[in-house]
Amino acid sequence: AAFIDVEDVALRYRPHGAVEGTLAVEGLSLSVAEGEFVAVVGPSGCGKSTLMKLVTGLQFPSAGRVRVAGDAVTGPVNIAGMAFQNPVMLPWRTTAANVLLPMEIVQPHRSNIRRNRASYHERADALLASVGLEGAGEKFPWQLSGGMQQRASLCRALIHEPKLLMLDEPFAALDAFTREELWCVIRDLQAEKGFTTVLVTHDLREAAFLADRVLAMSARPGRILAERTVDLPRPRD
Ligand code: ADP
Ligand code: ADP
Repeated sequence: AAFIDVEDVALRYRPHGAVEGTLAVEGLSLSVAEGEFVAVVGPSGCGKSTLMKLVTGLQFPSAGRVRVAGDAVTGPVNIAGMAFQNPVMLPWRTTAANVLLPMEIVQPHRSNIRRNRASYHERADALLASVGLEGAGEKFPWQLSGGMQQRASLCRALIHEPKLLMLDEPFAALDAFTREELWCVIRDLQAEKGFTTVLVTHDLREAAFLADRVLAMSARPGRILAERTVDLPRPRD
């Protein structure tokens, strides 16, 4: 069975009980195998972020079914790590404490985290170092550059060793050099850990560099219009 299984899904947003609302996606189906890296492209407003929210359980379909790891999605999917275009961080927490936030969800007894504070922080610092952020853990997010915050937000998405990595344009705001550096970081991590990844991007070069398969969505209401397997030689092959 597929790791992500989206079957004939529609989602209509109805803010404040609006009668019509916005039909964001309709007839949306896709399946992603375990360990696969899929990129999703499509025009702005076509429902790419909506797809990400449906898969991570932040939105529920008006029609159709969403299953992840064999289970119907009924609430936030804790096996997912998420990173967005805008690396929102809690300004009153250090970068390491921000990176450790998902641990508080998968490890609900916060006393465990407090008791093992040193080992948790070591783990956060090691992950930060792997993306070139040695020593940034003790700084506050607002003391880091935008690109550094974006790296840290990738660490936050990965700290709980998610089986599923959901990336919503996390590289878009970076300079070209940092972007390509982080592509390599993600690609190496994927090869090492074997998690399943869905990446929303506007950058076809990025999609071709990272993904096994590229899915193109139609304009709103979004659905998958076409898909293409990327067959480039990669270091992991
Ligand atoms: P994309 O990520 O491809 O730009 P989105 O999934 O963000 O597209 O949005 C799809 C459509 O749904 C857009 O028309 C957008 O305005 C609308 N939309 C997204 N989120 C909401 C929301 N929370 N409430 C109402 N409409 C929304
Ligand atoms: P905790 O859940 O253990 O209180 P938080 O990281 O939520 O940890 O908060 C750490 C400290 O920052 C707390 O003393 C809290 O009262 C304070 N705090 C919470 N929200 C804000 C905020 N928006 N701005 C500044 N300080 C805050």
